[in-house]
Amino acid sequence: MSISLLEQSWDSEYYDNLDWNTACDEVGVSRKNGLPKTSKMGCRSYNLHPLFCNSARHDDPNDACATCFGLAAMTTELRGNYKFHKASLIARWDKIMNSEHWTEAMVFLIKAQATPDFKFRWHDIGDIQDIFHFKKIIKVAEMTPKFAHWIPTNEYGIVRAAVTRGIVIPENLHITLSARKKQMTPDMTVTTEVEELCIQLNKHKNVKKDIDYTRVALREAYMASEDQCPSWFQNHECQDCRICFDGTKKSIAFKKH
Ligand code: SF4
Repeated sequence: MSISLLEQSWDSEYYDNLDWNTACDEVGVSRKNGLPKTSKMGCRSYNLHPLFCNSARHDDPNDACATCFGLAAMTTELRGNYKFHKASLIARWDKIMNSEHWTEAMVFLIKAQATPDFKFRWHDIGDIQDIFHFKKIIKVAEMTPKFAHWIPTNEYGIVRAAVTRGIVIPENLHITLSARKKQMTPDMTVTTEVEELCIQLNKHKNVKKDIDYTRVALREAYMASEDQCPSWFQNHECQDCRICFDGTKKSIAFKKH
């Protein structure tokens, strides 16, 4: 493996001299509001356009991402409030890939907009682009140890590549691998691939926080699940639940939107 792949860049001098406007511009968020806020989780997040979700199949009715809550069904057309942020969601891809100080700016903004319970959600829409992007996210988590970070992802290959190359997954970064297919019925199994991958990855000593898995389940399957996300029963809000952030369950079933 190349040394450069494992190196985590951090420019202390740049960080110490950062200001709000520069940080917002560096990561492509509004100077007025900073990082977006998720209404369900009540914490700050970062996202990008699902056009850049490399492994999702938005036009496949069986794919869990075909009913992504940020998109019109079976398309990559944004819906809800996301519609009003199309240009910035697309522009963020360039920021992620090309901004020299994206990592420092993200840390600055997360600390500046800390929620009382110190949670941060990655990608309420969008996903990891490549291992370099993933490394930057890991570095942000390392530099904000008070925060519990949650990153759900379809990008198994990127996570596997990072883990097997020895990149440390810090204790405050909970990665969940999303099952690709929706669970249609209570007796349907959709998590075999992610369960097996988690077992393999969690054997690595550099994984300081167990990697877990999630699935999207239709109503009947969700109701029969023992690992339900409780938000369905509490006004579609997380309230004081922190399962996604703390990793207190190996698996989570989300009800299909
Ligand atoms: S499992 Fe808990 S933290 Fe995760 S989405 Fe559901 S309510 Fe929120």
